[in-house]
Amino acid sequence: MSVRVRFAPSPTGKLHVGNARAAVLNFLFARQQQGSFLLRLDDTDTERSTAEFAAGILADLAWLGLRHDVFARQSDRFDRYREALERLKAAGLLYPAYETPEELERRRLRQRALGHPPVYDRAALKLTAEDRARLEGEGRRPHWRFGLAQRPVTWTDLVRGEVKVDTATLSDPVLVREDGQFLYTLPSVVDDIDFAITHVIRGEDHVVNTAVQIEIFQALGGALPHFAHYPMITGKDGEKLSKRLGSLSLEDLRAGGIDPMAVNALLAKIGTSDPIEPRRTLDELAAEFAFAKIGHSAARLDPDDLKRLSVKLLHMRPWAEVAAILAPAGIGEDFWLAVRDNLEAASDAMDWWNVATAPLTPVVADAALTSQAADLLPEGDPTEATWQPWTKAVSAATGKKGKDLFLPLRLALTGRNHGPEMKKLLPFIGRSRAVARLRGERA
Ligand code: GLU
Repeated sequence: MSVRVRFAPSPTGKLHVGNARAAVLNFLFARQQQGSFLLRLDDTDTERSTAEFAAGILADLAWLGLRHDVFARQSDRFDRYREALERLKAAGLLYPAYETPEELERRRLRQRALGHPPVYDRAALKLTAEDRARLEGEGRRPHWRFGLAQRPVTWTDLVRGEVKVDTATLSDPVLVREDGQFLYTLPSVVDDIDFAITHVIRGEDHVVNTAVQIEIFQALGGALPHFAHYPMITGKDGEKLSKRLGSLSLEDLRAGGIDPMAVNALLAKIGTSDPIEPRRTLDELAAEFAFAKIGHSAARLDPDDLKRLSVKLLHMRPWAEVAAILAPAGIGEDFWLAVRDNLEAASDAMDWWNVATAPLTPVVADAALTSQAADLLPEGDPTEATWQPWTKAVSAATGKKGKDLFLPLRLALTGRNHGPEMKKLLPFIGRSRAVARLRGERA
């Protein structure tokens, strides 16, 4: 059966590095397996879901290049969830409960005080028909709980190995609220069945949900998908993902000029046995993806890695990808290849092009040295091969070495104390401009 995975964000907020990881891992696995990738908006919470957040998620995924093959929205599928609910009711697996949130909270506090786990005590199961009629007469509406089988549920997790959760330790989950709103648990299972999801890949905060959902899959007669739960992301020193890091929204990263492939590479590699290195394409990341590489402890996120990867990707970027912005300024591929290793943004190439080709006032730090250098510069157009023998000759003539030799040359030739390799820049500066600058003339 061909692989089908899903990314199921709730459009109740922006995508950030934490929740985008699910998108990246699911996409890469689907791509590797030549399977399909479903984007599902978990928007059953009609109060908190907004069209703006949904549009933002679509824009972020498009920016990352994570194209979905199938799209679904839970708010279009309430009929399916109601049908499933009726089947669970008919099977006697659903029961109405009338406690208010305050009553439940009081009970939990009492259980904690007695040292008991705060598990729902199933008091509603003991209600008689008259009790229920009385409660409804008081204007109470029931919420609906799924009666767990209270047994160990086991599965072979593709990341965690054998997992066992005893549902006797869990509260019967509420599937529908008193106002009729479906909570996440049931719609997710119905969708996973209807869309024939083969692998559910999500964070380990869903491990307990999985045990509950396995019972629901079985109650509905659906085939169980494989499950893979990866550890969460923490800050770089193992601290819980802080507000600041957690709020590294994709929108902000995009606005900050981060390369989307830097985000993809970081999220693909973080917490795995692979080094965090840039990759130019999703196909390369997909080829390298393996559940077995995902570690069992938290993945530590260093936000500086995003910048580092982004800059590395820039240094790998071929001319074809930057020609549209640089060619109009008169820049050619040769210049791009000469300077790209020293750039922080593609547009900085413009800046160095001006340094090389537009008049500037040189900075003369050692006039004796630079004028000797002017005299010694070989005839003819300088090439990349000019620099080494020329500076050797200047060194021999002046006795200067290292920084004392190279910094005054750089300052005179570029007016700056840092930049691309001089041997690569010199051919673009050209002989006559170089000689003039070395003599302290604006050129
Ligand atoms: N909407 C859920 C979430 O964002 C989906 C979890 C899942 O993958 O099942 O947590």
